Amino acid sequence: MTKHIFVTGGVVSSLGKGLTSASIGLLLERRGLTVRMQKLDPYINVDPGTMSPYQHGEVYVLDDGSETDLDLGHYERFTNSPLSRKSNYTTGRIYQSVINKERQGQYLGATVQVVPHVTDEIKAAVLNLAEPDVDVVITELGGTVGDIEGLPFLEAIRQIPLEIGKENCLFIHLTLVPYLKAAGEAKTKPTQHSVGQLRQIGIQPDVLIVRTERPIGREHTEKIALFCNVEKDAVIEEVDKEFSIYEVPLGLVEHKLDKLIINKLGLPLNDLQIDDWRSLMQRIRHPERDVTIAVVGKYIDHFDAYKSIYESLDHAGFEHSARVIIKRIEAEEIERQSPEALLKGVDGLLVPGGFGKRGIEGKLQAIEFARQCEIPFFGICLGMQCAVIEFARNVLGLKEANSSEFEKHTPDPVICLLEDQKTVTDKGGTMRLGAEPCVLREGTISAACYGHREISERHRHRYEFNPDYLRQLEEHGMIAAGTSPNGHLVEVVEIPEHPWFVAVQYHPEFKSKPHQPHPLFAGFVEAALTRHQQRSQQTV
Ligand code: GLN
Repeated sequence: MTKHIFVTGGVVSSLGKGLTSASIGLLLERRGLTVRMQKLDPYINVDPGTMSPYQHGEVYVLDDGSETDLDLGHYERFTNSPLSRKSNYTTGRIYQSVINKERQGQYLGATVQVVPHVTDEIKAAVLNLAEPDVDVVITELGGTVGDIEGLPFLEAIRQIPLEIGKENCLFIHLTLVPYLKAAGEAKTKPTQHSVGQLRQIGIQPDVLIVRTERPIGREHTEKIALFCNVEKDAVIEEVDKEFSIYEVPLGLVEHKLDKLIINKLGLPLNDLQIDDWRSLMQRIRHPERDVTIAVVGKYIDHFDAYKSIYESLDHAGFEHSARVIIKRIEAEEIERQSPEALLKGVDGLLVPGGFGKRGIEGKLQAIEFARQCEIPFFGICLGMQCAVIEFARNVLGLKEANSSEFEKHTPDPVICLLEDQKTVTDKGGTMRLGAEPCVLREGTISAACYGHREISERHRHRYEFNPDYLRQLEEHGMIAAGTSPNGHLVEVVEIPEHPWFVAVQYHPEFKSKPHQPHPLFAGFVEAALTRHQQRSQQTV
């Protein structure tokens, strides 16, 4: 019988519910259990694909092409749980399905209501992940207890123990215990209120994880236990981590959360196999060298907009025992100042994905600077498209070369709309999405990084490299290093004359893990380290 864990949050948003859920998934896997992860998001968008990164942060893409919440990125980085369309539901998707069924007459004349029809749809989405070989499904509920839009989801998960047995379910609630400097004390009242709200809905949490800035001590956890009607040992403090998010699971092990969950769910308690994670932490805590990578983007002041990119850079640093210092640069700032002013001294430049015209000129200037000064360059999706535009303008002399995304009637559309995008009018879920095969050219940097030539990577774009310009570009030194298996779509470009200039149409950042960095990120950071070393030797 598959067991279900529900993770809810209270007091404030951004408590790190996603990270905590992912950490629980990791710990259960390291105790020999098979885990599935899922996120329920109460907003009305059918998926986050149409939302601005300012609203939502990054859109995380899965192999099957689903555009999902960025917490799924944590799930993939921490666990081996396979993720698919079934792993992320929103209110919009739930209602879309209910309304479709109503139109098809599937409710047989009933008045269609939030309870039971919407709640049944939510329950089905959760229970659908239970399979004979799955020990535990972890379902994280987005938002904060008390949000109006979260109510149908809470009602649905309240009902699940009635259906499958109390002993098969566990409710974990995450809250904040703020430290009030003026009072010199940690305050438990918001947690009490939050649990009170949950209990009003009919959910009694079994475990409380309290996020705190500093350790709060036994006295406070016992008080929380008493007031919230939770066993003393089931109040777990999760103190802010100094070095890295990858410390979170180890902190939870110290508080025996893994054993607690396993005991409460009556699962077999196997040994905890986590030595590799501990040694990873050693490397993270004690880097041997520093390397500075500039990320030039458009949503730079929003920390979550390029989440997986930043994580992947860190992973590559772990591999080389290096601390990656990320210099986040707003592309328009390059236009206002100059690439020299902002990029002098960096060891590598990464231009990530994006949409729309704002900041493009700044990105082009940054790429030109990196190309000419031999700074390792890594372009991703829009970053790749910009690299092609820059090369066409400044090396081929096609001064007005552009993407037709930014200049519809450009005389030289070196980046143009994908053929099957030309008739698309809807915005949601209509891009080229998900995993696609790609074949790398022998002797390229990319082929050397991957160590093999046939790869599969995830896409999310409408525009592509225009093959009409391939010959000209190759004659001038920018080559197609990877294409779709039939050779029609250019997926990777490189400049062989440059120490490390690789740009890809896909999103490698979705496939990097802390202990298995993505090969291109690892190669890029290695090239940046080499440049760093060469430069410091020159100055000695
Ligand atoms: N805007 C570009 C396109 O749609 C790039 C998309 C991206 O970077 N994800 O093709």
